[in-house]
Amino acid sequence: FREAWTLASQPAVETHRGVPRPAPAPAAGGFTNAPDTDPSVAANRAWAAAIRARAATSALGVDTLQDARIDDASALSAVIGAAKSAATAWAQIGAQTRAAVLEAVAVELEARRGDLVEVMMSEAGKTVDQADPEVSEAIDFARYYAARAVELEQWEGARPVPRRVSVVTPPWNFPVAIPTGSTLAALATGSAAILKPAEQSPRCGAVIAEILWAAGVPKDALQLIDIDPEALGEQLVGDPRVDQVILTGGYETARRFLQIRPDLKLFAETSGKNAIVVTPSADLDLAVKDIVASAYGHAGQKCSAASLVIAVGTVATSHRFLTQLEDAVRSLTAGPADEPRTQMGPLIEPAAGKLRRALTALEPGERWIVEPTPLDETGRAWTPALKAGTRPGSFFHMTECFGPVLSVLAVATLDDAIHLQNAVDYGLTAGIHSLDPAEVSHWLDRVEAGNAYVNRGITGAIVQRQPFGGWKRSVVGPTFKAGGPHYLSALVDWERTEIED
Ligand code: GLU
Repeated sequence: FREAWTLASQPAVETHRGVPRPAPAPAAGGFTNAPDTDPSVAANRAWAAAIRARAATSALGVDTLQDARIDDASALSAVIGAAKSAATAWAQIGAQTRAAVLEAVAVELEARRGDLVEVMMSEAGKTVDQADPEVSEAIDFARYYAARAVELEQWEGARPVPRRVSVVTPPWNFPVAIPTGSTLAALATGSAAILKPAEQSPRCGAVIAEILWAAGVPKDALQLIDIDPEALGEQLVGDPRVDQVILTGGYETARRFLQIRPDLKLFAETSGKNAIVVTPSADLDLAVKDIVASAYGHAGQKCSAASLVIAVGTVATSHRFLTQLEDAVRSLTAGPADEPRTQMGPLIEPAAGKLRRALTALEPGERWIVEPTPLDETGRAWTPALKAGTRPGSFFHMTECFGPVLSVLAVATLDDAIHLQNAVDYGLTAGIHSLDPAEVSHWLDRVEAGNAYVNRGITGAIVQRQPFGGWKRSVVGPTFKAGGPHYLSALVDWERTEIED
């Protein structure tokens, strides 16, 4: 389940948002990733400006969310019961019909791309350039899982049996791509889905539900619920009518779910503490660009984000590398998500706990290269932080902090770098910048990460091309990757059938 990828760029397709256009025809013989909005097209810049103007007062999803509010145990129980009943018909319509619904979802997602970007900006502080690719990814999940669902039924000697009720508990950091992908994966297999969006981004979940229903997913087969997890989370996960849970969140949350219900079929993509190694053979200009994008995109609030650079040999003392990295970090513009010049938006919540410690204190041996400053009194808006001197085994080496803080660690050899990279509990993403094929293959043979990237940033996995998932404490449950060929096969039970001659 460990896979590696080299440079990958989106196909160069000119797109015009806000201008009606037909859904793209499927590529002959294969799957085509949905293109992101091209900002070099003037109409697209106008489209983005209109979204920014609407975001502050956006009320998208509010009414839908109100209908989904559940405050007591009996109402939650009724929802689970309704999902379970709806599952029978949804399973019986067959994979072809469900795939057609998923194709319709893809068209509807594209039609509401602007709304989705707006609600992500409004609720989660995403800038257009961070939110727009999420819509593309959601569309990719719809089309990709549609095709995989049909394939599932074509296995010889085994028949997929849908699990009736799947609960989906996605995170706030990818409030559109992940809930859409997880929900559609369950639905594609013939399971009913109960979507409980993250508390920080419930309206994103509501707009997704609106889209899926509009595209033909039966209202009972997809249940949107807005609950207080403190009050009702345990009941939801513990209900024996719930067959499986697809979680993206912290490792501790996954552990908690299994404490509530040790026999739970849990598919959890959890935390990460990810490093990019830079060797003396690297293209340093490219390395700096990819490091900055991986560390500070969405203010570092990605499981996949880089928070460590491990500089090998002369890179660690290279004036060119260090000043270029420092300049790149200093030149990032932090600010409100709805300002056009903002490159790094605000944190989802005021920095607290581990992140506050990482932003405000140095550990023994550390020094600031770029010291962060709060931009206002909210605790949410910070300038990016860059430091050096983090010691092996220390707090910042080992701990996921989920924010815009990056540290440069110096090591003598590539093996030292691999040792530090693998020393953490997690194994989600990892990167290397090196133009030496021997170094790259040495690293690939040893690095402990689900997604290993070569000469590329370490965020922004692309459906089909780079299925996403980790090992070690970055995954709880089966290691089948989202957006990959085997994901759906893990979400069903298998029944043996006769093989026909
Ligand atoms: N799939 C995302 C990426 O490749 C990360 C998802 C996450 O942070 O949970 O950047």
